[in-house]
Amino acid sequence: MDDATSSSGFPCEGGCTCRQVRYRMTTRPLVVHCCHCRWCQRETGTAFALNAMIEADRVELLAGEVEVVDTPSLSGKGQKISRCPHCRIAVWSNYAGAGEAVRFVRVGTLDDPDLLPPDIHIFTASRQPWVVLPPEMPAVAEYYKASTVWPKESLERRAALMAKAQQQKQQQ
Ligand SMILES: [Zn+2]
Ligand SMILES: [Zn+2]
Repeated sequence: MDDATSSSGFPCEGGCTCRQVRYRMTTRPLVVHCCHCRWCQRETGTAFALNAMIEADRVELLAGEVEVVDTPSLSGKGQKISRCPHCRIAVWSNYAGAGEAVRFVRVGTLDDPDLLPPDIHIFTASRQPWVVLPPEMPAVAEYYKASTVWPKESLERRAALMAKAQQQKQQQ
């Protein structure tokens, strides 16, 4: 990840196809996954999904509302997909693992999706054979440990998130 700490291009905006849902990503995400799992292939109808993982409070809804659709997921724990209630385009998901605190923004919904190429390809065990990855590209057959891939800044942001979640748990 060469450019993870740079803020060029951010904040940036995105939205659905009918333009009723608009959002702003205020900073760079923690990491960008290109996921080749069969679930992402089915959900997108194509070969992979491109997801920017980012703290929920760094994604601001500028216009419209999202409709949250409970959807089965690979882990069995489900994911909540936020869609425009009109055109039904998915703009982000929340997975059970990271919960409400982290959104997986669908990179293709950004006005400039070229801003966020993948940092790592995951679940390449089910990569469609015609998708050929550059040899130097980080790629794993299934999943990986964040500490081995994420830049220091993202790991620090993750630690802050986890501390916040712990605090909230104690207050409940
Ligand atoms: Zn829409
Ligand atoms: Zn996937």
